[in-house]
Amino acid sequence: EEAKSNPRRVLLKLSGEAFGGGAVGIDTHVVRRIAQEIVPAVRQGVQVAIVVGGGNFFRGAELQQAGIERNRGDYMGMLGTVMNCLALQDFLEQEHQATRVQTAITMGQVAEPYIPLKAIRHLEKGRVVIFGAGAGMPYFSTDTVSIQRALEIHCDEVLMGKNGVDGVYTADPRKDPDARRFDSLSYHRALVDNLAVMDAAALSMARDNTKPIRVFGLEDDGNVTRALVGERIGTIVSS
Ligand code: UDP
Repeated sequence: EEAKSNPRRVLLKLSGEAFGGGAVGIDTHVVRRIAQEIVPAVRQGVQVAIVVGGGNFFRGAELQQAGIERNRGDYMGMLGTVMNCLALQDFLEQEHQATRVQTAITMGQVAEPYIPLKAIRHLEKGRVVIFGAGAGMPYFSTDTVSIQRALEIHCDEVLMGKNGVDGVYTADPRKDPDARRFDSLSYHRALVDNLAVMDAAALSMARDNTKPIRVFGLEDDGNVTRALVGERIGTIVSS
């Protein structure tokens, strides 16, 4: 496995919010643009695995507020992520980029099951691997899954593509004009100051296993490619 000169392998986390363009459902313009920005990085030899969120369809915690039992709501949330995966897969395939979707909940007609060694093989062959259905377990988040998948399939870093912000700030830049963006940040500071990187379960898993996380903005044209090829945009969270 170590034969070639260790190509860069990354885990890109795309929030469902980005896919929805601020609404329920899928904004195809956004998803197409993201797909078109992924392809150049793969052509340059970067191995790209992706975890897609589902907040543009359902979040279990919100469904619970509306009267749906939490576990069932979480499964609805996970199924939402799969629709996002299929949309992204379609736009990547339209760009002639080979892809595989692997889901944590088995649905053989739609996607492969999550098989980590197979995912690694796909990446080595230049296929983009898209992970759906989160961890397949209620009470988890797709942020946590991003760290877990990155660890299990040996990604160099986790790239968190964000909507509306282009990194981690001292305060919410949409509310506080004095908010300043970090170029780099420790896991500890992010956790203690409760800075908007990812949820605490995900962040502590990254810290405990020293997996670097780069937080960057999805909106600027070309940013997805930049993050994938390793440009130092946004904020890096590490030890
Ligand atoms: N979810 C879950 N287990 C997982 C991943 C996701 O139960 O392993 C559910 C949960 O209800 C969550 C929803 O799926 O709210 C959508 O995922 P997430 O909120 O992480 O998506 P994002 O915020 O990234 O769009």
